[in-house]
Amino acid sequence: MVYLHIPFCGSFCTYCGFYSETESGAGVTCSAFADAMIREIRSRADEIAGSGPPDTIYIGGGTPSVLPLSSLSSVVSALREVSPGCGRDEFTVEVNPEDVVEKGSAYLDSLLGLGVSRISMGVQSLDDGVLRWMNRRHDASTARKAYSMLREAGFSDISVDLIFGISFLDDEIWRKTLDEIIDGMGTGMSPEHLSAYQLSVEEGSALERLVVSGRYSEASEEKCRIQYDILCRKASDAGYRHYEISNFALPGHEAVHNSAYWRRVPYVGLGPSAHSLLHDGMPSVSAWLSEHGAIGKGRGLRVRCWNPPYLADYVRNVCGSSPADHAYGREGEVLTAEQEVIETVMLALRTDTGISESCLRRLRPDAPIDALIDAGSLCREKDGAEDGPRLRIPEGMFFVSDSIISSLV
Ligand code: SF4
Repeated sequence: MVYLHIPFCGSFCTYCGFYSETESGAGVTCSAFADAMIREIRSRADEIAGSGPPDTIYIGGGTPSVLPLSSLSSVVSALREVSPGCGRDEFTVEVNPEDVVEKGSAYLDSLLGLGVSRISMGVQSLDDGVLRWMNRRHDASTARKAYSMLREAGFSDISVDLIFGISFLDDEIWRKTLDEIIDGMGTGMSPEHLSAYQLSVEEGSALERLVVSGRYSEASEEKCRIQYDILCRKASDAGYRHYEISNFALPGHEAVHNSAYWRRVPYVGLGPSAHSLLHDGMPSVSAWLSEHGAIGKGRGLRVRCWNPPYLADYVRNVCGSSPADHAYGREGEVLTAEQEVIETVMLALRTDTGISESCLRRLRPDAPIDALIDAGSLCREKDGAEDGPRLRIPEGMFFVSDSIISSLV
């Protein structure tokens, strides 16, 4: 599993806390960035080759569709040099509607030619007032056009990102947005996947500054809950499986890459600010464990590491001299047993398959599991599980999942 972080955006959205730069603001061209990423791919070849299964590529950002096709394709070629067939299980690229419309059908045909099997498009809203407030570069008609172009090009696995829980977003507008999205924005073909997030105030975002200066007040919990309920009901009526708190899929279209994150499958993240979860079977990780005095402390140790979020430094310093060379000041930590348990429980309980009951009781012997079952905050699924009954948070309690999970970890 490989994640590539493309740290460029055309402009910055009000709510966004992800690391990205504009090409002019960073003083780094897309092609210089792509060259650096190719160096990083080659220097981490052992991790990439040893990271599967599943064999997935996810190109996110930032806005990957800002990157010229020549840069994108040289990065993908480098990836396939070190891991032939990489992305065979799923290959997702995030796009923004304005890039799809501007670059046209030739761009989409080329993405298909690279082996891209899944598109994740940031629509966020179909209300122009909301989109303007978000400082998105597209309007609703551009989103509709982009979606129909993706369908015409032949993409058959499309995910649409949406945002709710904005204090001035009327419930009726939210309903209309969902209806139109689920109807396929005029194409009659529903997106195979929806990701819908409640607006949150991210550190360093423009929204944080609006809140601090009193120019934006967050939506009430009640409003957010109503809009989440509307989302859950409409998605369910349309046949989507609510398989993770923020994610819905038509049958067979659950995201392979993201689902593997939730099962804590190791992955390699490349590019500025990208995180990785690595295991001790990888030669470069053994070197890392040795440096951190953790070598020989038992099998199954894992390292979480991350690239610092500085594009200019990345382009200047990322090097490929040796696989064990932690180029460009990669930072990281060897995960403790307690961190492993907390992450396993937290991520599993965000999904509709939950966690094996025996596993949860073993990992968290003192947690109030029976009380949560009695209160209806956890439910037991008996059928079809190889490892015995499973416990999960029922859909009706997903909205308060944070407090349920925190009582278990
Ligand atoms: S939301 Fe996406 S397009 Fe907007 S600034 Fe963040 S990464 Fe860029």
